[in-house]
Amino acid sequence: MNTLEERSIDCPYCGEEIEILIDFSFGEESYIEDCQVCCRPIDIYLGEDERGELIVRVSDENSV
Ligand SMILES: [Zn+2]
Repeated sequence: MNTLEERSIDCPYCGEEIEILIDFSFGEESYIEDCQVCCRPIDIYLGEDERGELIVRVSDENSV
């Protein structure tokens, strides 16, 4: 099973669309990935909805 998936997200800092490669083999997870445009750390959350679809949520570091 291929759990690697490419997604586009919008950077919460600069608003640019960037491509990230998601490894969903660990299930629900959150991690930090630096924006390829402005190099600031984006908080990325991976989850699953009730139909088993991948959810990707991004937020900036300060919005907790
Ligand atoms: Zn950015």
